[in-house]
Amino acid sequence: MALSYSAICKGCWQQMHMPVPLRGAWSAPFRAFGIRPSRMNPNLCTICETYFERAMKARTVTLNATVLFADLRSYTKLSQSKSASEMAAVLDAFYDQCADAIWQHDGLLNKTIGDAVMAIFNFPIRHADHARRAVLAAREMQRSFEPHRAEFGVGVGIHTGELSFGEFGHSHRDLTAIGTVVNTAARAQSHAEPGQILVTQAVYEQARAELGDSSPSDYRLKGFDEPVALYAA
Ligand SMILES: [Zn+2]
Repeated sequence: MALSYSAICKGCWQQMHMPVPLRGAWSAPFRAFGIRPSRMNPNLCTICETYFERAMKARTVTLNATVLFADLRSYTKLSQSKSASEMAAVLDAFYDQCADAIWQHDGLLNKTIGDAVMAIFNFPIRHADHARRAVLAAREMQRSFEPHRAEFGVGVGIHTGELSFGEFGHSHRDLTAIGTVVNTAARAQSHAEPGQILVTQAVYEQARAELGDSSPSDYRLKGFDEPVALYAA
């Protein structure tokens, strides 16, 4: 992977202007204290990851953010013609390429759900143009999957707005974002064709410079009374 990761934690730098080395010789003493690159975003340190988890557990955190869902299509069909280990390799490549695209644009890989991934932009690394960053990450994902298009495709859905973080569930405690923004992004994703990115009006308006002039189509999303306008990005 031709990715170059940040030498210092972007979260610590942005929040405190403190250079916390993640790589190279300077990172050794930090690593000795357990401060290392986060698995949710290798450009963040484990302190920032803990901060993220605490913020989510506080149950009161609401913020403006962009949510991206990407789902591997034809996975079930593909599994009939491939062996279990071949399928695992496909899924690994899918996760890796999604993660790289998300991290390149400072997003957080919040979770992987079966053959789908959910990412959040604007937390904990803040960027005013978080909706645009999510679109760029989605395009990067689609580009990286282009060579495999004959076998499978990826559908992406993106929505932006205010969302809440929390720890939910009784038997299975789960740290995640909830709210209409999350549901809408997930539903938009479910309507995206393989290779397609569907974004909401709010995303379109905030990422207009990237998306150019485009007209929306109305979609009947499960759980929504009114049709929802989505743009192909
Ligand atoms: Zn940090």
